[in-house]
Amino acid sequence: MSSFASLVRAVPDFPGPGIVFRDITPLLADAGTFARCIDALAEPWLGQGVQAVCGIESRGFIFGAALAQKLNAGFVPLRKPGKLPPPVTGVDYQLEYGSDRLEARVDALKPGERALIVDDVLATGGTLLAARALVEQLGARLAGAVVLIELDALGGRLRWTGDAPLHSLLHY
Ligand code: IMP
Repeated sequence: MSSFASLVRAVPDFPGPGIVFRDITPLLADAGTFARCIDALAEPWLGQGVQAVCGIESRGFIFGAALAQKLNAGFVPLRKPGKLPPPVTGVDYQLEYGSDRLEARVDALKPGERALIVDDVLATGGTLLAARALVEQLGARLAGAVVLIELDALGGRLRWTGDAPLHSLLHY
Protein backbone atom coordinates (compact mmCIF):
# COMPACT_ATOMS: atom_id res chain seq x y z
CA MET A 1 0.00 0.00 0.00
CA SER A 2 1.52 3.34 -1.06
CA SER A 3 1.30 6.58 0.88
CA PHE A 4 -0.43 9.51 -0.76
CA ALA A 5 2.75 11.58 -0.87
CA SER A 6 4.80 8.85 -2.55
CA LEU A 7 2.41 8.96 -5.51
CA VAL A 8 2.57 12.73 -6.01
CA ARG A 9 5.34 13.49 -8.51
CA ALA A 10 7.36 16.71 -8.17
CA VAL A 11 8.08 18.14 -11.64
CA PRO A 12 10.71 20.92 -11.59
CA ASP A 13 10.35 23.93 -13.92
CA PHE A 14 6.81 23.13 -15.06
CA PRO A 15 4.81 24.94 -16.42
CA GLY A 16 7.59 27.55 -16.18
CA PRO A 17 11.09 28.10 -14.76
CA GLY A 18 11.32 27.89 -10.96
CA ILE A 19 7.88 26.26 -10.51
CA VAL A 20 7.69 22.80 -8.93
CA PHE A 21 4.49 21.25 -10.28
CA ARG A 22 2.82 18.61 -8.09
CA ASP A 23 1.55 15.91 -10.45
CA ILE A 24 -1.25 13.85 -8.89
CA THR A 25 -1.88 11.53 -11.83
CA PRO A 26 0.19 8.63 -10.36
CA LEU A 27 -2.02 8.74 -7.25
CA LEU A 28 -5.18 8.68 -9.37
CA ALA A 29 -3.89 5.66 -11.30
CA ASP A 30 -3.39 3.57 -8.16
CA ALA A 31 -6.82 2.11 -7.35
CA GLY A 32 -6.26 1.47 -3.64
CA THR A 33 -4.50 4.75 -2.92
CA PHE A 34 -7.07 6.79 -4.83
CA ALA A 35 -9.89 5.09 -2.88
CA ARG A 36 -8.15 5.75 0.46
CA CYS A 37 -7.51 9.33 -0.59
CA ILE A 38 -11.23 9.91 -1.26
CA ASP A 39 -12.09 8.33 2.10
CA ALA A 40 -9.61 10.62 3.87
CA LEU A 41 -10.86 13.74 2.06
CA ALA A 42 -14.47 12.87 2.91
CA GLU A 43 -13.86 11.95 6.54
CA PRO A 44 -14.16 15.45 8.15
CA TRP A 45 -17.35 16.12 6.17
CA LEU A 46 -19.31 12.97 7.02
CA GLY A 47 -22.47 13.91 8.92
CA GLN A 48 -21.89 17.63 8.27
CA GLY A 49 -24.99 18.02 6.10
CA VAL A 50 -23.14 18.77 2.85
CA GLN A 51 -25.76 18.88 0.08
CA ALA A 52 -23.65 19.96 -2.90
CA VAL A 53 -20.00 19.38 -3.76
CA CYS A 54 -18.61 22.12 -6.03
CA GLY A 55 -15.56 20.94 -7.97
CA ILE A 56 -13.18 23.45 -9.59
CA GLU A 57 -12.20 22.74 -13.22
CA SER A 58 -10.48 20.54 -13.98
CA ARG A 59 -8.77 18.38 -11.36
CA GLY A 60 -11.35 19.43 -8.78
CA PHE A 61 -13.88 17.51 -10.88
CA ILE A 62 -12.01 14.23 -10.30
CA PHE A 63 -12.00 14.54 -6.51
CA GLY A 64 -15.30 16.37 -6.32
CA ALA A 65 -17.36 13.76 -8.17
CA ALA A 66 -15.99 10.95 -6.01
CA LEU A 67 -16.54 12.98 -2.83
CA ALA A 68 -20.11 13.80 -3.83
CA GLN A 69 -20.82 10.06 -4.03
CA LYS A 70 -19.26 9.45 -0.60
CA LEU A 71 -21.21 12.32 0.98
CA ASN A 72 -24.48 11.48 -0.76
CA ALA A 73 -24.46 14.99 -2.23
CA GLY A 74 -24.96 16.42 -5.70
CA PHE A 75 -22.01 17.57 -7.84
CA VAL A 76 -21.76 21.09 -9.27
CA PRO A 77 -18.94 21.97 -11.72
CA LEU A 78 -17.35 25.42 -11.35
CA ARG A 79 -15.97 25.96 -14.83
CA LYS A 80 -13.55 28.10 -16.81
CA PRO A 81 -15.29 30.81 -18.88
CA GLY A 82 -17.23 29.89 -22.00
CA LYS A 83 -17.64 26.19 -21.19
CA LEU A 84 -21.16 26.18 -19.73
CA PRO A 85 -24.24 27.04 -21.77
CA PRO A 86 -26.25 30.10 -20.64
CA PRO A 87 -27.56 31.28 -18.31
CA VAL A 88 -24.38 31.44 -16.24
CA THR A 89 -22.98 33.67 -13.55
CA GLY A 90 -19.31 34.07 -12.68
CA VAL A 91 -16.53 35.60 -10.63
CA ASP A 92 -13.35 37.15 -12.06
CA TYR A 93 -10.10 36.81 -10.15
CA GLN A 94 -6.48 37.86 -10.50
CA LEU A 95 -3.61 35.52 -11.31
CA GLU A 96 0.09 36.37 -10.96
CA TYR A 97 0.01 37.31 -14.66
CA GLY A 98 -3.44 38.25 -15.93
CA SER A 99 -6.85 37.16 -14.73
CA ASP A 100 -9.24 34.24 -14.88
CA ARG A 101 -12.88 33.53 -14.20
CA LEU A 102 -15.02 30.75 -12.73
CA GLU A 103 -18.59 30.24 -13.88
CA ALA A 104 -21.61 28.17 -12.85
CA ARG A 105 -25.16 27.79 -14.04
CA VAL A 106 -27.21 30.57 -12.40
CA ASP A 107 -29.44 28.05 -10.60
CA ALA A 108 -26.74 25.43 -9.95
CA LEU A 109 -27.23 25.69 -6.18
CA LYS A 110 -30.48 26.05 -4.25
CA PRO A 111 -30.82 29.02 -1.87
CA GLY A 112 -29.36 28.10 1.51
CA GLU A 113 -27.97 24.78 0.29
CA ARG A 114 -24.84 23.65 2.16
CA ALA A 115 -21.98 23.55 -0.34
CA LEU A 116 -18.46 22.16 -0.11
CA ILE A 117 -15.73 23.40 -2.49
CA VAL A 118 -13.11 20.94 -3.76
CA ASP A 119 -9.84 21.34 -5.66
CA ASP A 120 -6.60 19.40 -6.01
CA VAL A 121 -4.07 22.07 -4.98
CA LEU A 122 -4.19 25.24 -2.88
CA ALA A 123 -1.39 27.61 -3.94
CA THR A 124 -1.95 31.38 -3.54
CA GLY A 125 -5.63 30.81 -2.75
CA GLY A 126 -6.99 32.99 -5.57
CA THR A 127 -8.90 30.12 -7.17
CA LEU A 128 -10.47 28.91 -3.92
CA LEU A 129 -11.50 32.46 -2.94
CA ALA A 130 -13.14 32.96 -6.34
CA ALA A 131 -14.98 29.65 -5.89
CA ARG A 132 -16.18 30.79 -2.46
CA ALA A 133 -17.41 34.11 -3.89
CA LEU A 134 -19.24 32.23 -6.64
CA VAL A 135 -20.91 29.82 -4.20
CA GLU A 136 -22.06 32.80 -2.13
CA GLN A 137 -23.25 34.64 -5.26
CA LEU A 138 -25.36 31.56 -6.06
CA GLY A 139 -27.09 31.93 -2.68
CA ALA A 140 -25.72 28.78 -1.06
CA ARG A 141 -24.26 28.44 2.44
CA LEU A 142 -20.59 27.55 2.50
CA ALA A 143 -19.78 24.38 4.45
CA GLY A 144 -16.06 24.78 3.75
CA ALA A 145 -13.37 23.65 1.36
CA VAL A 146 -11.10 20.67 0.89
CA VAL A 147 -7.95 20.22 -1.18
CA LEU A 148 -5.56 17.32 -1.54
CA ILE A 149 -2.41 19.45 -1.45
CA GLU A 150 -1.54 22.73 0.23
CA LEU A 151 1.58 24.60 -0.93
CA ASP A 152 2.33 26.28 2.40
CA ALA A 153 4.89 28.80 1.16
CA LEU A 154 2.37 30.42 -1.18
CA GLY A 155 0.15 31.48 1.71
CA GLY A 156 -3.29 30.49 0.42
CA ARG A 157 -4.51 29.50 3.87
CA LEU A 158 -3.82 32.98 5.24
CA ARG A 159 -6.26 34.40 2.70
CA TRP A 160 -8.99 31.89 3.65
CA THR A 161 -10.57 33.95 6.40
CA GLY A 162 -13.90 33.33 8.12
CA ASP A 163 -15.42 30.41 9.97
CA ALA A 164 -15.79 27.83 7.21
CA PRO A 165 -13.11 25.13 7.62
CA LEU A 166 -10.45 24.44 5.00
CA HIS A 167 -9.04 20.91 5.13
CA SER A 168 -6.05 19.47 3.27
CA LEU A 169 -4.29 16.11 3.30
CA LEU A 170 -0.74 16.94 2.19
CA HIS A 171 1.53 19.93 2.80
CA TYR A 172 4.58 20.99 0.82
P1 IMP B 1 -4.06 29.30 -6.63
O1 IMP B 1 -5.25 30.00 -7.22
O2 IMP B 1 -2.80 30.09 -6.75
O3 IMP B 1 -4.32 28.81 -5.22
O4 IMP B 1 -3.79 28.02 -7.53
C1 IMP B 1 -4.58 26.88 -7.40
C2 IMP B 1 -4.97 26.35 -8.74
O5 IMP B 1 -3.82 26.15 -9.55
C3 IMP B 1 -5.67 25.02 -8.58
O6 IMP B 1 -6.84 24.99 -9.37
C4 IMP B 1 -4.65 23.99 -9.02
O7 IMP B 1 -5.24 23.00 -9.82
C5 IMP B 1 -3.60 24.77 -9.80
N1 IMP B 1 -2.23 24.47 -9.34
C6 IMP B 1 -1.35 25.29 -8.78
N2 IMP B 1 -0.19 24.68 -8.52
C7 IMP B 1 -0.36 23.41 -8.91
C8 IMP B 1 0.48 22.24 -8.88
O8 IMP B 1 1.64 22.24 -8.42
N3 IMP B 1 -0.07 21.09 -9.35
C9 IMP B 1 -1.33 21.04 -9.83
N4 IMP B 1 -2.11 22.12 -9.88
C10 IMP B 1 -1.65 23.28 -9.43
